[in-house]
Amino acid sequence: MKNVIFNFTVDDICLEGYSTENHLNSILDFCDGNNIKGTLFTVPVADGVSLEKRPGYIKVLKDAIKRGHEVAQHGLEHDRFEIGIPPEMIMMLPHEGPARKFLAENRNRLALEHTVKKIRKKLKTGKDILEQNLGIEIKGFRSPAGQNCPNMYKVLVEDGYLYDSSEIFQKGGWDLLNDIDEPWQEFTWERFLNVQKGGSMLEMPISADYVWYLKQDKYNRALALAKHDFNSCMESGVPMTPVCHVSPIHEGDEGLGFKLYRELFEYMKNTNCEIISGTMSEACKNINI
Ligand SMILES: [Zn+2]
Repeated sequence: MKNVIFNFTVDDICLEGYSTENHLNSILDFCDGNNIKGTLFTVPVADGVSLEKRPGYIKVLKDAIKRGHEVAQHGLEHDRFEIGIPPEMIMMLPHEGPARKFLAENRNRLALEHTVKKIRKKLKTGKDILEQNLGIEIKGFRSPAGQNCPNMYKVLVEDGYLYDSSEIFQKGGWDLLNDIDEPWQEFTWERFLNVQKGGSMLEMPISADYVWYLKQDKYNRALALAKHDFNSCMESGVPMTPVCHVSPIHEGDEGLGFKLYRELFEYMKNTNCEIISGTMSEACKNINI
């Protein structure tokens, strides 16, 4: 029997406008109700406020850990350019207008900012905040807005992260948001091997976000893409790692974000393959490269 490693991940925890404690709690209830373990990528200093000063979130996150979910690191301050530069498909999103303008005017200066020394300091500051306030060891990382640069990956490997999840495998997810009609990408084991960064760190690429403020007119195509990606992962053995964002999964048309996942889970069950849905750290133990 084939098996698929399925990693349900949530981004932007603590980030104003994209996250509330209530929305995070409702995602945790959804995970528990569907026997899914989530990995929660948390912003250490969101909107200038350290996690230390957010007792409500600390409580929800500690409770999530007790329930078997994992907390991982999402950058330091969620600045678009703090440790790298986001890929083109993300910079094209309608809400990225100001960041596009900033990048156009500062690209050369930013490249000079992304030194090993500066990146190491930012990553360590963020990791320490999460570890000290939650009493856990942070093992995984995902960069904000998919930003990256060679030095970012170098530091992640050298500083002993178990996994990184900043690469993105299904551009189709962003094409859907940008109203671009291109063929969907396939997940292959060769692509999976090609994005590995060396050392003992595993690169665990995001598949896509299928539920970003999901509206009725895009529902069928988003669900079809999610099913396509699941099939592609089943064929190739590449883990499926969808991302959703704390508030955007709630704030599309009524209930559609969770509806898509419920339909996807039903579809997955009917394929008769074994679904391994643990945290990202647990998934790493099941992958041999
Ligand atoms: Zn983010």
